Formats: sequence, structure tokens, C-alpha cells
Amino acid sequence: MPTANAWAAPSATEPLVKTTIERRELGPRDVLIEIKYAGICHSDIHTVRGDWGPQQYPLAVGHEIVGIVTEVGPEVTKHAVGDRAGIGCMVGSCRECDQCLQGNEQYCRKGMVGTYGAVDADGTITQGGYSTHIVVDEHFALRIPEGIPFEAAAPLLCAGITMYSPLHHWNAGPGMQVAVVGLGGLGHMGVKLAHALGAEVTVISQSLKKQEDGLRLGADHYYASADPATFETLAGRFDLIVNTVSAKIDIDAYLGLLNVDGTLVNVGAPPEPLPVAVFSLIMQRRSFAGSTIGGIAETQEMLDFCAEHGIASDVEVISADQINEAYERVLASDVRYRFVIDVATMK
Ligand code: NAP
Ligand code: ZN
Ligand code: ZN
Repeated sequence: MPTANAWAAPSATEPLVKTTIERRELGPRDVLIEIKYAGICHSDIHTVRGDWGPQQYPLAVGHEIVGIVTEVGPEVTKHAVGDRAGIGCMVGSCRECDQCLQGNEQYCRKGMVGTYGAVDADGTITQGGYSTHIVVDEHFALRIPEGIPFEAAAPLLCAGITMYSPLHHWNAGPGMQVAVVGLGGLGHMGVKLAHALGAEVTVISQSLKKQEDGLRLGADHYYASADPATFETLAGRFDLIVNTVSAKIDIDAYLGLLNVDGTLVNVGAPPEPLPVAVFSLIMQRRSFAGSTIGGIAETQEMLDFCAEHGIASDVEVISADQINEAYERVLASDVRYRFVIDVATMK
């Protein structure tokens, strides 16, 4: 079995360390990708630290992966050796159920196979992108358009699609008032994408510290949630709010910012429940919804949309030995706006 260098968590409480992991032999429809960059998503931190439930260790996380195809199985048609390829949050699904057939592999009736920490078809636990190589079914590998710099493309594979899919589903566009709550990895992509789609965009951050950045990224307005006046000024304003916050917040306060028939979509995934008073919903026919990543075709559409509109992630490239420090900075909301690991530093 091919071996890859990797950085993995030995347990929920220890820092990530350098190690090696096994990749499967190339199957007929598999591609081997030499990974160049891997983004650090807050979900990586929730997962390795056991926020969402127990994991099997050692675990290499990472689901914002870009690299070069270096080998293809005999039945591969979608990719060729030398192609720029990306892998996001899933590496498998049943491919037969109604959701898979509609291109919603992320909502597969049998459950998608996550890029890390999931049980693969062969019974092994999947290992993610903080590693030098990965073998994946060609269907789950995306084409990275030439116009997007590699390191800035990596975060599109999770942060980009996680924001694009709900913006698209709830028709963000001209004449729509869209708010993005939390200006982190997901939030900064949400601002860029909602702006490019033509919506009027408001950021609601904890403070005004990143206001200048928010406006540069494409926001029309910027408010601090720490200021109680924000919730009075913005009451009833938005058609769509996308909440990216990784912690528990007062959802009722944000539902109050929705217009009649407005929707608050939660993409942030704190481990705790987010209680809702039904009166926040029923008096104005508001909706509280959720969304996770996007299908493979939709992810390709998002990558092509980004290339066409000159959109990519604002990244801080780090070496592998800075991963643990980067985790602490993400937890402190001190990221502008995505850490991306230069995988060459794992060799
Ligand atoms: P991130 O870069 O850490 O951004 C989260 C932002 O939330 C922070 O920058 C901060 O924004 C705000 N925030 C953090 N703690 C807060 C608190 N206690 N109160 C209020 N605001 C707070 O994380 P990310 O990578 O964007 O991920 C965000 C969340 O989405 C995570 O829970 C992650 O697991 C989840 N996620 C879900 C999906 C999906 O498919 N649904 C995909 C990817 C990630 P400000 O500094 O602007 O206040
Ligand atoms: Zn993610
Ligand atoms: Zn399925």
C-alpha cells in the first residue's frame, strides 16, 4: 500500500504530529493526487478535538485539498495525469439514491463518505488532506480552473461551496438583502460570493475590528453584534442570513433581523443545540434552516464561477509545523481568512 507523509492528531487532547498514513492501491476509477496545499477548516478542529463525538486516532484531517493528478486508473475518464485537481469534504456516496442522482451527493440517503474520519467502502477509516498524497474515486475530484492560484483555491473546496450552495438555493442576487454572521473562513467567502451574485451584503461580526477588510471583500455594511443597537437598527431587514459562527449564539436575536418570509440558514456547526422560540418564526413566517457543503456538480459550478469573477480565498500560507499554532488562532477568531498548509513542508 502506498504510504504518505501526514500530520495527524494522536488523540482528542494532544497536538498534531508528523507521521505516515496508508493510502489504498489505485482502483480502476481512482486517481492519485500529489497534494500541494490543504486548508484548515474549523470543522477539522471540531473533529480532532471530539466536539462532534468520538473519533478513531491517529486521525489526519483536512478537506480543502488541491494538488496534481500523478496517476489514473484504467477506467478514469474525467481526469488526466498533470491535471490540477481538488477534493472537498466527501470522497464517496452510494451514487444510486434519488439525492445522488440529483447531484446532491452530500445528502446521500446512505450517508456520504467524509474525506476524513468516515468508514470507507473497504471498511477503513478515511484520512484527510494534511498529507502528501491521496487516492480518490475520480467522481469526487474537482477540476481547479487555471486562473485561480493553487493555495487560494484550496479553501473553496469547503468554505467556498458551503457558502455558495445556500446562497444559490435561496436565490441570493440583485434586490436581496443578505447578511453573513461571522467573518472567518466561511464568512469571508460568503461576503465575496454574495457580492458577486449581486446581493446587498451586510456583515455581522463580534466587533468592528475587521470592518475595513469586510468592506474590501465586498460587504456594503458592517455591524458589531456586541453593540445592542445593531439588533434595533437591522430589525426586519434581511431576506437571507447565513450564520457561520462556530459557537452557540442567540438565534432568536438574529431571527428578529429577518424580513417577512426571510430565512436564516445555519452552516456553523457548534456541538450545542441552538434553541429557538417559535414566536421568532411564526409571526413573520420566517424559516430557520441548515445546509451542508454542496454536490459535486455544484462544487464545480462554484469553482468555475469563482474563476470567472476573479474570486478566491484570502489565505495565510503556513508550514506543517505551524498547524497547532494556527488552530489556536482560529479558535481565537484570529484568522485572515484561512490558514493553508504548504504540503511541500511535510516531505
Ligand atoms: P472560523 O474561520 O473560525 O470562523 C468562525 C467565525 O465565527 C469567527 O471568525 C468569528 O467571526 C465567529 N465566532 C467565533 N466564535 C464566536 C462566538 N463565540 N460568538 C460569536 N461569533 C463567534 O470557522 P469556519 O472554518 O468559517 O467555520 C465556521 C463553522 O462552520 C464551524 O462550526 C464549522 O465546523 C462549520 N462548517 C460547516 C460546514 C457545513 O457544511 N455546514 C462547512 C464548513 C464549516 P467574527 O470574528 O467576525 O465575530
Ligand atoms: Zn470544512
Ligand atoms: Zn446516495
